[in-house]
Amino acid sequence: MPHPTQTEIIVIGAGIIGVTTALALQAEGHRVRLLDRKGVAAETSRGNAGAFAFAELEPLATPGIMRKAPKWLLDPLGPLSLRPAYAAQILPWMWHFWRATAPSRYEAAVQAQSGLMRLSQQALERLITRVDGAPLMRREGQLQVYEGQAQFAASLPAWDLRRRHGIAFDLLESPAVIAEIQPGLNPRFTHAGFTPGWMNTVDPARWTEHLAAAFVTAGGVIEVADVRAIQPREAGVDIITATGTRTAAQVIVSAGAWSHHLARTLGDRIPLETERGYNTTFPTASFDLRTHLTFSNHGFVVSRIGEGLRVGGAVELGGLNLPPNYRRAEILVRKTAEFLPGFDPNGGTQWMGFRPSLPDSLPVIARAPGADRVIYAFGHGHLGLTQSAGTAELVAALVAGREPAVSLIPFDPRRF
Ligand SMILES: Cc1cc2nc3c(=O)[nH]c(=O)nc-3n(C[C@H](O)[C@H](O)[C@H](O)COP(=O)(O)OP(=O)(O)OC[C@H]3O[C@@H](n4cnc5c(N)ncnc54)[C@H](O)[C@@H]3O)c2cc1C
Repeated sequence: MPHPTQTEIIVIGAGIIGVTTALALQAEGHRVRLLDRKGVAAETSRGNAGAFAFAELEPLATPGIMRKAPKWLLDPLGPLSLRPAYAAQILPWMWHFWRATAPSRYEAAVQAQSGLMRLSQQALERLITRVDGAPLMRREGQLQVYEGQAQFAASLPAWDLRRRHGIAFDLLESPAVIAEIQPGLNPRFTHAGFTPGWMNTVDPARWTEHLAAAFVTAGGVIEVADVRAIQPREAGVDIITATGTRTAAQVIVSAGAWSHHLARTLGDRIPLETERGYNTTFPTASFDLRTHLTFSNHGFVVSRIGEGLRVGGAVELGGLNLPPNYRRAEILVRKTAEFLPGFDPNGGTQWMGFRPSLPDSLPVIARAPGADRVIYAFGHGHLGLTQSAGTAELVAALVAGREPAVSLIPFDPRRF
């Protein structure tokens, strides 16, 4: 007789990827249990900027970045920094990152990203309808601003790339035109690109919790459990937790920036690292923000969260264990006060999160190479919220043995 829980699918990690995937599997009739050592949206999915950034197609590993990166990396408070204490550990990731900057690999990554974005956008609309999620969405577009003609000219290849991938936008070339979309900006921002189709959630934590509630209402189980190892058996998979063993028919690993530790217990070495990011959230809005604002040359964004504002960004390569350096968050708030006259920089709450990042900025979405009852779904870097609904549909297709809506070759862990 089969073990009673062996028809169940276990999803490890209740961030946005795990919760959305659990819902997608449940919608196909599976019995699903979601395990997380801390609870729903307890890590990176809680404090992100809330953007569905379907227009962000470029990987971090652009062909020119190796020329600019050393200057950035040496500035401990710049948009991209490396904690010296972590420099030796991150070398293997850096090597794969350098390889990903080759023009052919970059082009392939953009193509793969574009396909996943298109699927994710359509899948998100299906999900919003299914869970009555419209009140948790804002459709206010995104404004990316530049200081002067030279910065704007340097941004044009990225806008051209978006055009080639069918993303609609307007280029704005004077402060007066910019002010029609977002009044009150410092006039040093003379040029901008506006992406009207961009959307945000009102709060990424609330959105993830809303999805988790829909999952539980439909009979899903969420359990607090710290997973230590995954052991495939002939007729199932054992999940070893701090408090005992669970057995499942199939397992999905969506444990964000910690996923490679679980993959390692199956013998897979995956070069997952974390790009740590910082935010400050202000419970009330002292500036009338009308859209999602991106200061790309400064590496941060300002978005509306609930009734307030969130200022966040930065990339810090520093692993999972070093303490946060909140001076990074302070710098972004100071800049915001300069860029948005009238913005009150007092009263915010600081946060640091762990973006789960692979060197080519693409996630892993695949069956584990040596264990066909285990599926990996992690490594979405800056875009986990954005790509969650598409990822969930791809995992559901893998479980069902259906042809996935996009090729999964670019998302195979054996590409490294
Ligand atoms: C500052 C910042 C801003 C961002 N802004 C955006 C944005 O605007 N749009 C966007 O799309 N993305 C954004 N991101 C990225 C996005 O937040 C992540 O890609 C996404 O949250 C990753 O989701 P996840 O479910 O993979 O990981 P997580 O949310 O980190 O969830 C992983 C879960 O796994 C659990 N877990 C880990 N190990 C175990 C274990 N052994 N046993 C049990 N449970 C375990 C953890 O407790 C956690 O709950 C941003 C990130 C940062 C840091």
